[in-house]
Amino acid sequence: MAQIDIELRNVIKEFTSHGEMRLRAVDNIQLEIYQGEFFALLGPSGCGKTTTLRMIAGFEDPTSGEILLRGNQVQNVPPFHRPINTVFQDYALFPHMSVLQNVMFGLEMEGARKADARRRAIEALELVRLTQYDRKPRQLSGGQQQRVALARALVKKPAVLLLDEPLGALDLKLRKEMQYELMTMQEQVGITFIYVTHDQEEALTMADRIAVMDKGKVLQVGTPEEIYETPTTRFVADFIGETNFLQGTLSGTEGNCGIVKLDGSTIIKAGMNEPSLSDDQPVTIAIRPEKINLFAVEGRVRYPDGSSDRASEYKTAVMRDPDINLVEGTITSTNYIGTDTRYVVTFGEGLHLVARVQNYGLRSETVFQNGQRVNIFWDADHSRVLLE
Ligand code: ATP
Repeated sequence: MAQIDIELRNVIKEFTSHGEMRLRAVDNIQLEIYQGEFFALLGPSGCGKTTTLRMIAGFEDPTSGEILLRGNQVQNVPPFHRPINTVFQDYALFPHMSVLQNVMFGLEMEGARKADARRRAIEALELVRLTQYDRKPRQLSGGQQQRVALARALVKKPAVLLLDEPLGALDLKLRKEMQYELMTMQEQVGITFIYVTHDQEEALTMADRIAVMDKGKVLQVGTPEEIYETPTTRFVADFIGETNFLQGTLSGTEGNCGIVKLDGSTIIKAGMNEPSLSDDQPVTIAIRPEKINLFAVEGRVRYPDGSSDRASEYKTAVMRDPDINLVEGTITSTNYIGTDTRYVVTFGEGLHLVARVQNYGLRSETVFQNGQRVNIFWDADHSRVLLE
C-alpha cells in the first residue's frame, strides 16, 4: 500500500457570515490521499472543494478535525512552511516580472543563490515546455500564463501540489491539450496532485481517484471506473455522465442483485451496493444509456461482422442468460449524433429509457424508426439499485 500523503480526519469548516448564522462549508470530511496520486475533488459550485483545498494549503483553519501531512499534524504550521504549493485559476503572476523572474522569485526569497535559482527555474520551465523566458505575463496567452504558474509551483519541488480549477479560464481545445500535458507532467515529477474541478469529464480523464462532493460532504471516493460504473447515490449517478433513473419497489434479492418491481407488469434485476435493504423498500434504479441494447422485434439482427440471425432466435438466446433484463418497448424518439444514435424507448406502463447505440455499421443497418417495436435488454449488473 502506498504511503498516505494527506489525511483529513473529521474535518469541519464553518463560516459565520450574517451575524449569528453559521454556514457549514465542509461537513465532516474523511479523506486519505496517497503519495504520487492524481486525486480530484469533484462537485458542483459551492460544495466545499476550494475550502477543503485552502485548509490543506493552510490558508484556512478547520473549525474542528485534523489535517495530517505524511502522518504529522499541520494545523499549526503556516502555509509557507508546508511542503505544499497551490496553482490558482487566475494564475496570480507578478505582472512587472518576466517569466523567468516569476519562477525564480520564490527560490530567491528562500535564499537560493541567483545562479542556482536560475538553473532550477529553467528546469521547471522546460518541464512545462515554455521557452519565452523574457516575456512579461501580459505578452503570453492564457495557456502560457498557466504554464508559468505551474512552473512557479513545481520549482520548489513540493510534496503536494494543489490545483484549483487551473484550466477553468482556457478554451475547450487548449483545456483538453493541457489536461494530457498535466497528466504527463505529474507522472514525470511524481508529486501528489490534488485537483479541484466541477467538470466531471475532466476528473474522469485525469484522476487516479475522485472524491465526489455535495453540500460539504464527500459522497463517494473511488477510481473513475468505480464512480462511473457503481455509483452509490443518486447524486453521484446523476452528476457523472448521463443516467436513466427508474422508480420501483424492492421485492427480494438474488445474490448481489435486487429484484425490483417497476410497475404492475415489469420486474427487473439490478446490482446492489446495499445488501441490507428490506423488501417493499422504495428504490431508484440507475442505468447508463450505453449499457442498453436494442433489437427489432420483427426481422433480423445484424452483427458487426456482417452476419445476421432471426430476431426471434436471438431473443431466445438472450433470454437464456438469467442475469439479463429483457422487456419489449417502442421507439418514441430517434436522434442521430454521429458516433451513436440516441433513442428514447417506452415500455411497461408509461416507463421510458434513453438508449445510446453505437453506429458501428452503416447507418441504414443499425437505425430504428419512431414507432418501431423493439426488444430492450441489459445486464442486471449494469443497472444499480440506489436508495435515494
Ligand atoms: P466553486 O466551484 O464555485 O469554487 P466550491 O465547491 O469550491 O465552489 P467553496 O468555495 O469551498 O465551494 O464554498 C463552499 C461554501 O462556503 C459556499 O457556500 C461559499 O459561499 C462559502 N464560503 C466560502 N468561503 C467563505 C468565506 N470566507 N466566508 C463565508 N462563506 C464562505
